[in-house]
Amino acid sequence: MVSEKSNKRTKKVKIRRTSMPEQNPEERIKNFKEVALGYTEEDAVKESTRCLQCKNPRCIEGCPVDIDIKSFIDLISKKEFDKALDKIREKNSLPAICGRVCPQEDQCEKKCILAVKDKPVAIGRLERFVADRKLSKNSITGNESSGCSENNNSKSKELDCKSSNKKIAIIGSGPAGLTCAGELAKKGYKVTIFEALHKTGGVLVYGIPEFRLPKKILEKEVKFVESLGVEIKLNMVIGKVLTIDDMLNNGYSSVFIGTGAGLPYFMNIPGENLNGVYSANEYLTRSNLMKAYLFPEYDTPIARVRDIAVVGGGNVAMDSARTAKRLGAKNVYLIYRRSEVEMPARNEEIEHAKQEGIEFILLTNPVEIVGSEGWVKKIKCVKMKLGEPDESGRRRPMPINGSEHDIDIEAVVMAIGQGPNPLLTSTASGLKLTRRGYIEADTQTGKTSKKGVFAGGDIVTGAATVILAMGAGKSAAEAIDKYVKTGIW
Ligand SMILES: Cc1cc2nc3c(=O)[nH]c(=O)nc-3n(C[C@H](O)[C@H](O)[C@H](O)COP(=O)(O)OP(=O)(O)OC[C@H]3O[C@@H](n4cnc5c(N)ncnc54)[C@H](O)[C@@H]3O)c2cc1C
Ligand code: SF4
Repeated sequence: MVSEKSNKRTKKVKIRRTSMPEQNPEERIKNFKEVALGYTEEDAVKESTRCLQCKNPRCIEGCPVDIDIKSFIDLISKKEFDKALDKIREKNSLPAICGRVCPQEDQCEKKCILAVKDKPVAIGRLERFVADRKLSKNSITGNESSGCSENNNSKSKELDCKSSNKKIAIIGSGPAGLTCAGELAKKGYKVTIFEALHKTGGVLVYGIPEFRLPKKILEKEVKFVESLGVEIKLNMVIGKVLTIDDMLNNGYSSVFIGTGAGLPYFMNIPGENLNGVYSANEYLTRSNLMKAYLFPEYDTPIARVRDIAVVGGGNVAMDSARTAKRLGAKNVYLIYRRSEVEMPARNEEIEHAKQEGIEFILLTNPVEIVGSEGWVKKIKCVKMKLGEPDESGRRRPMPINGSEHDIDIEAVVMAIGQGPNPLLTSTASGLKLTRRGYIEADTQTGKTSKKGVFAGGDIVTGAATVILAMGAGKSAAEAIDKYVKTGIW
């Protein structure tokens, strides 16, 4: 005889994953508005009822910051949306961002038990729903409170925090810096973020385009961090205007470095100095931060051409290709040296790029950019085949002799990776670096070779993900708290 419980489970398994409404591809390539429109309350509750509330929820194992996924989904199914958000915020201070950009298919959703036979619970979409719902009500505070007191009113904060009235400097306002700052502010520290650019957010503001992460969402998440008491100083290039030693000698008890990996790599092939060749970093910064996407209101110089190639297969390449389409290109060629299976981009971005008419030219690698009168005219490529897996675990691409061919283009965007900018690290005495220029830091605590200095995010790991940067910021905050309280290094 089938028990009532197992009957209920079978019924749940039969519910199909709730799709997310989107702008249709023909329309969206003419604008920079967000593509995925988010769940309605009805969608979210329906999707939450698919969750089996597993005894041993494997989804949590897949989350780099250990969000109690099962509980927040349960709260959504009971329509306790604010509580669901509070549950997420226990572990993640930027849920509206993570709900949009995290590679859930490789993390929590990959581990979800439903993924064995069907599609996993849409954990990311549910996270986004509860965060957006709160942000749309213009309320930026959850039940977060200073770590010094259960009561979040400023007077009691003042009283309870006297003992930990220490100053901490955070360098960089990307997800690593923002998270570390937020966590330390909750513990009662006086936290200042020093950011080189004129806008807060790191890659979230200068790299990821509006159609994937609207600036107003980021602004609201940043306001939330500020509401915890964090001060943000913009246009402060540390290493130039101040050094880490200046900070440590001028009242900061500890410093966290979250400066990311913003230095673009090129292929070192002939023709890369031609006009019309961009790094993805420059191209996306011109579009996002310098507002070329708001043409004609902003007439920022950027290639608005008919035929353009983007080289690479990650999120950066997808963002560049989809930006090019929206800036008016008719033919956008995405050139990648491996096959689609090896592409590191999120599945959703690959799907969206295809729907928008981006032409994928796979197993192909550029060998030269050919120009005329100083401007890009063609890209010369070779066909590739896949050999044995390399150190990254992906099959190594190898050129096929005699397969050279040209593609007519007027601009190229190189999206083949980024490395660490040496500006800060070269001015910090006693800071050990890896062979490739990243900061050597303990993976659990972010502790560097320099006393009182911690680091995390892309500047330690190399280009990775938002959630890993946040995880590093969070664990460094714990370690900084311990160090400042005990003085033990
Ligand atoms: C175009 C693009 C798309 C991406 N898409 C995704 C995605 O969909 N999902 C995902 O999970 N990840 C994505 N990533 C990767 C992700 O954004 C990064 O892994 C993450 O932002 C790293 O965070 P971070 O805080 O370490 O550094 P960053 O976000 O790079 O922030 C570093 C900050 O430090 C500042 N800084 C640097 N030097 C100094 C200095 N000397 N003084 C003061 N400030 C300084 C920089 O201006 C910057 O604001 C993408 C990356 C790019 C470039
Ligand atoms: S593994 Fe999937 S079904 Fe199980 S609790 Fe997590 S989200 Fe729900």
